[in-house]
Amino acid sequence: MDALSNLIFADATAPFAKAKFVIFGAPYDGTSCFRTGSRWAPNAIREASYNFETFIAACGVDLAEVPFCDMGNINAGLDREELFREVQETSARISKSKKIPIMLGGEHSLTHPAFVGLGRKLKLVVLDAHLDLRDEYMGAKHSHACVSRRIVETIGKENIILIGIRSGAKEEYEFAEENGILYYSADRLNSEGLGGVMRALGGIRGSVYLSIDMDAMDPAYAPAVSTPEPFGLTPSHVRAIIQKVAPKVAAMDVLEIVPQYDTGNTAILGAKLVREFIASASSKHRPK
Ligand code: MN
Ligand code: MN
Repeated sequence: MDALSNLIFADATAPFAKAKFVIFGAPYDGTSCFRTGSRWAPNAIREASYNFETFIAACGVDLAEVPFCDMGNINAGLDREELFREVQETSARISKSKKIPIMLGGEHSLTHPAFVGLGRKLKLVVLDAHLDLRDEYMGAKHSHACVSRRIVETIGKENIILIGIRSGAKEEYEFAEENGILYYSADRLNSEGLGGVMRALGGIRGSVYLSIDMDAMDPAYAPAVSTPEPFGLTPSHVRAIIQKVAPKVAAMDVLEIVPQYDTGNTAILGAKLVREFIASASSKHRPK
């Protein structure tokens, strides 16, 4: 962990031992192909987190009363294999302590080591514009563009739900069809609403890893991402999904923000989604 920075996520003031949620940053963007720079996102999200009130009105929860902490950033000076190992170990350590890890990326490939570190066969719910089902991309099997494929290989095709999809190679769509991978396109959600997704999420048994690639949302709302894709979800869609699935979530991440393309909106939205998640997961009275 990077002990030099004093910057922590707003209100993440609990000691580790007492925290129910543990934030950590993974500043890695080694396979980003279009816009690099998501390694700067963990601290940009932290800075943005100070914009908000501690009271989350939608859930009736005051984050000042929820014990959570921020471990800082994993040292980005390491090579990819070492960095992934450290992400995996950090995820494992938090999870073994019966706490919920919240990873601030960094790029989407980080979800794989964070997921593996939990050591359990969770369901994976991914919000993403992209299928990320390539077997390899630009010679790399660990690329951000392959992350859902890698996790499908680990947990099986029946244990993944992709939401917000509107981009992929023809082969990725064929792979999804041939393997019966459940995905909801952004077009479908924008025309039909969230009913089908909500039913699918409501039917999940067991625990969930919730992975939020910020490009799931339309670039109008989240412009500063590595690979922006028009015709996306709204932040309200994403918040409703978070509220629905939060009680089942054992780990979550927020990824792919590239701060140097931001006027602040994307990092603010990322920080708000983390805060909404913590509040939703802590609330006994969920919003309808
Ligand atoms: Mn992705
Ligand atoms: Mn994406």
